[in-house]
Amino acid sequence: MDLIDRLVAEVEERRDSLVSVTQDLLAYPTVNPPGHLYYEICLYLQERLQNSGFDVQLHRAHGAIADCDRYPRWNLIARRDGRTSGDCIHFNSHTDVVPAGSDWTRDPFAAAIENGRIFGRGSCDMKGGLATSIIAAEAFLACVPDFSGALEISATADEESGGYAGVAWLAEQGFVTPQRIQHVVIPEPLNKDRICLGHRGLLWAEIETRGRIAHGCMPFLGDCAVRHMGAVLEALETELLPRLAARTTSMPVVPAEARRSTLNINSIHGGQPGWRQDDNGDGFLASCVADRCSITIDRRFPGEESVDGAKAEIDQLLQDIRHRRPGFEYRLTEMFSVPPLEVDRNIPVARAVARSIDTVLGVKPRFVVSPGTYDQKHFDLVGGVRNCVAYGPGILDLAHQPDEWIAIEDMVDSAKVMSVAIAMLLTEGLSDKTFEHSNQN
Ligand SMILES: [Zn+2]
Repeated sequence: MDLIDRLVAEVEERRDSLVSVTQDLLAYPTVNPPGHLYYEICLYLQERLQNSGFDVQLHRAHGAIADCDRYPRWNLIARRDGRTSGDCIHFNSHTDVVPAGSDWTRDPFAAAIENGRIFGRGSCDMKGGLATSIIAAEAFLACVPDFSGALEISATADEESGGYAGVAWLAEQGFVTPQRIQHVVIPEPLNKDRICLGHRGLLWAEIETRGRIAHGCMPFLGDCAVRHMGAVLEALETELLPRLAARTTSMPVVPAEARRSTLNINSIHGGQPGWRQDDNGDGFLASCVADRCSITIDRRFPGEESVDGAKAEIDQLLQDIRHRRPGFEYRLTEMFSVPPLEVDRNIPVARAVARSIDTVLGVKPRFVVSPGTYDQKHFDLVGGVRNCVAYGPGILDLAHQPDEWIAIEDMVDSAKVMSVAIAMLLTEGLSDKTFEHSNQN
């Protein structure tokens, strides 16, 4: 039996273990915000990975944004060194999940199995992927105990809120460097036959319009900030959105609807509430002209555009309104931005995963780009580790949805792909060169 067959068989043997690890992880409601149970889920993983021969360290992200005594941000790094030195392959998963929401028809933390699917908040995004990478690593270690190099598995906090107390913090502390880590796979749910090379960029910004407060019975004495915002919304609707929709990109973003620039208006707030109830249950009116109105926007863009360009375009739109609209004053404030990212599909880790998908699943892999950002940006921008892709089981569209699930068969297939990809990167016999050579002959 050759190595690939043995790896596949070792994963197959661990099918029940893969299911139970996934269920165990789902039972921790690591909901973020606010960031529950990071320490507890790290302890669970620590025990599991120590039993598989990993050296495990837990690190609390002291000083990072959102870390506090009530909701401490804990991260885990598990490392297993081979017999001789060589490349390190690092699997990174986030342990946080978004709130379940109210539309579930099942208990979001009971991890029920129905028709080969495990249901639970975080099943596809991305505790199923985390469990899959653990099983893949264990299967590899069983087949190749005397490997060269190192295997690392990290479980990190706060990806759903930007990753600043997770991967970004670890990178700032020196745990993510090109000297320590040579290859990174992030098992986000991109489907088992697709390799994700990066993500679109984003700009979150607030637009505020200013007015002048006055009595609501004499609005002519004031200047209404809500009406000014109406002009902004109209300009977004009739000028910017059609312009964005007409742009195309060479980035292979999935789903296809996201293969362009997009803009979401996340929120709008203006003036005083016209009517509200006080503590005694009495209603009262606040009859005022609104002196302030604000919206927050979420602008996403492909590699053909930049953060500065996206911001300048919105600023120009607002300046144009100011020219034609008397009394129009605005403030544009950037809240958060991430540049677009797309690594080359020929980087070593992408090639290994691609060859593994081809070999194990018998299909040609598809290279894609994610519509939203994930922790790859911190490996790249903070850690300087560019040899990184996202690859993992699960259907992207189910992430953050009610009744989120992951198919057991997809996890098993993906664990086989990961396990063989590790072997392709860490053993001579399956390396790129040897493989190409034997394919040519
Ligand atoms: Zn995720």
